[in-house]
Parts: sequence; structure tokens; C-alpha cells
Amino acid sequence: MNQKDIFADLHLHSTASDGILTPSELVKTCYRSGLKAIALTDHDTVKGVDEASETAEKLGMTFVTGIELSCGMPDQDYSLHVIGLFLDRNTNSLVELLKKHEEARRMRAFKILDLLESLKVNVAPLRADFESQQGVILARPHIARYLLANGFVKDYQEAFDKYLKKGCPAYVPKLHLAPGNGINAIHEAKGLAFIAHPGLDQNWDTTYSNIKDLPWDGIEVYYGDHDPNQTEKFRKLAENRRWLVSGGSDYHGESGKHVGRLGQTGLTRTCFKYLSVAAKKAAEAKACL
Ligand SMILES: [Zn+2]
Ligand SMILES: [Zn+2]
Repeated sequence: MNQKDIFADLHLHSTASDGILTPSELVKTCYRSGLKAIALTDHDTVKGVDEASETAEKLGMTFVTGIELSCGMPDQDYSLHVIGLFLDRNTNSLVELLKKHEEARRMRAFKILDLLESLKVNVAPLRADFESQQGVILARPHIARYLLANGFVKDYQEAFDKYLKKGCPAYVPKLHLAPGNGINAIHEAKGLAFIAHPGLDQNWDTTYSNIKDLPWDGIEVYYGDHDPNQTEKFRKLAENRRWLVSGGSDYHGESGKHVGRLGQTGLTRTCFKYLSVAAKKAAEAKACL
């Protein structure tokens, strides 16, 4: 796909989760990079949606309410991200689910800080920062950026390799939401549910056999870290399964992973239009059930 053909980016993060741009800054950056349609898909929250949609509207961009739910399978060590798009963000069941999830993530973040402290890493300023941020999703990238900025690690990845990832001394496992429950919450909010970045999963074949019978609407075929072979593999899978196709950059701002990505991965105008029509039909069908 040619860069100039990218019309929509349906995978973006803001400061409402672990991105570094505020929702409005993010939308403006997308606008400058030539995107015409965007979805905000913060981890386990829709708190940035109002600000982002207002900015998008002012700029004449199409805005899609989205989310990236962190899911996992019981007793298995992988995190399955589920992208929800075209959501009605005020749906009660979704709001309740996100509240519970937020509390679990907060507790996890503070546990990580406790472990870092026991390793003689001074995280007092970060703890004060976290305590002042009520109602904000706290995640490992925040901690990684703090460790880097304060000289505890040489680069972003080292924060994970030395402290934060599984097997390291400040690792705390996540409390996982079952993917089926994540999909249900997205469907109840009249949205469409997609498997996020399947190419990042080292054990994709096992994952696929575990999740293939869930009521997915689609899969994220176009993704910044998918090489051409992976893109083709997942495109074919979507075709065989008659799944919808999504795509986006997973942009978090110009720091950490996925930098310099905006406007390079996503959907063409035609594919975005097809997806929008499918979303509308699915929501209408639900209204008639
Ligand atoms: Zn993800
Ligand atoms: Zn993401």
C-alpha cells in the first residue's frame, strides 16, 4: 500500500492510556500527517474520546470511538489485545467493565512500584505522580519512561528487559479479562470486535486455535509491525473467515515503540468505507433484535 493511499488509522493511543500526546494533540498530529479518519483506541478506557472527537470534528475528520481491551486466557501466558471500534461509549455494561479493569491496573502499577523500591530504585516522584492521577490508566510504559528519564536504564527496552517483563524482579502479572467477555462488552456497546496485531503473537497458531470460535467481527490485518508476509497471511485468514479487516499504526507519540508511523499504516478510503457501512449495519441489526 502506498503511503498516500492511507486514509484511516484505526489504532491510536493518547495520554488517556499510555500515549504521550493528549487526545487533541494526537488528533492534530494525525491531521497534519494527512489522515482523514481516525479511531482513538486507548487501552481499557474511552476517557479521551470526547476531547478527541471534538478536535476531529473541528478539523473535518471522521472520528470513530474505539478501545483496545487487554485480554488473556486463563492459565496461559500471553496477552490478547481486542480492538473495539464504532462503540457507543455510554453503554452501562462497558462503563462498568472499564471501571473494574482500571482499578485492577492501578493496583498492579502500585505493586510494580513497591517491587522497584525494594530493588532500591527511587520511584517516589513517580508514585506521587500516580497518586495525583485518579481515574487514569496506569501502565508499564509510564514506568519504563520514568526509568529511562531518570537514568535507571539506558533505553526504553532495557526497562522491560531488566525490570518489568515476565521473569524480571519487578514483574507483576496482569489480571486478565477473558476475550469472550471483552467481545461481548464491545457488542453490547454496538461496536465491532477485532483481534489486534496478530503478527506480534509469537504463538499465534496456539492462540488462534483457542480463540477462533469466538464471535469476532474481524482482524487487524494492516499494522505497522506486520511484514508483507504476515499482512498477506492475515488478509487471507480474514478472507477465509469472512472477517472484516482493520488497520492502524498503534502510534503512542514520538517515544518508545511505533514512532514515525503516522500515515503509513491503516486503511484506504475504500476499505474504511466498507468497514463503516458494516458497522452501521451491525448496529442497526442489533437495534432490531
Ligand atoms: Zn496492543
Ligand atoms: Zn495499541
